[in-house]
Amino acid sequence: MVTIKSKSEIEKMREASRIANLAQKAVEKAIRPGISTLELDRIAERTMRENGAIPAEKGYPSGMRGVPDFPGSICASVNDNIIHGIPSEANILQEGDIVSIDLVAYKDGFNGDCARTYAVGKISDDAQRLIDITKQAFFEGIKYAKKGFRLGDVSHAIGEFVNQNGFSVIKEFEGHGIGREMHEDPGIPNFGKAGRGIRLEPGMTLAIEPMVTAGLPDICQDEDGWSIWTYDGSLSAHYENTILITEKEPEILTLA
Ligand code: MG
Repeated sequence: MVTIKSKSEIEKMREASRIANLAQKAVEKAIRPGISTLELDRIAERTMRENGAIPAEKGYPSGMRGVPDFPGSICASVNDNIIHGIPSEANILQEGDIVSIDLVAYKDGFNGDCARTYAVGKISDDAQRLIDITKQAFFEGIKYAKKGFRLGDVSHAIGEFVNQNGFSVIKEFEGHGIGREMHEDPGIPNFGKAGRGIRLEPGMTLAIEPMVTAGLPDICQDEDGWSIWTYDGSLSAHYENTILITEKEPEILTLA
């Protein structure tokens, strides 16, 4: 069921989302060659806790037998690691890497979720283009994230934009509604048919998140049960914000 948030619930979504964005900014400032993804995790967690939030990804259940709950406060996914990278002291960022940070702040009963891919030092033009196209795909999608359009319009716009630029969206993972739960209805694929799916209504809060690879869309899962990699080893990028559907333009809660 897709929930419509009340005015007071939206205020709480704003606050959780504001803190998620603050944590991203703190991580971004710290990114440099030589830092470990575990250090970035600590910085994000500290920022959230200093602002009265907790990192909602920590302890998130895997839902799979034998796979432990997510141990990190953030997902930190380097290069061909698309999503769900577990922060680690041994994972040291190198000049030329790209790293995707996905994090969720939980405060006062509500979640704010956002992801960005960052450059580590100087990166190749190809890597920068992948980051830029992934981010732009989000903005192409949200042109349709308003009353009068359907969810499929958003999905279609994202997928078309990515394909037209020679990249691939992954199909096994998708955006989602968000609110009291990190993952609520509806699922929001990064591909689809325009004119299909639910009608968007003011008060819906959605996490829209293109996950893009420079090569084929095929993925594989790490033996840790969490990390998702590109099958062909190509680079990948991720860009996500929590948005509010309004009567007019959507409000991007994790950019406020
Ligand atoms: Mg996320």
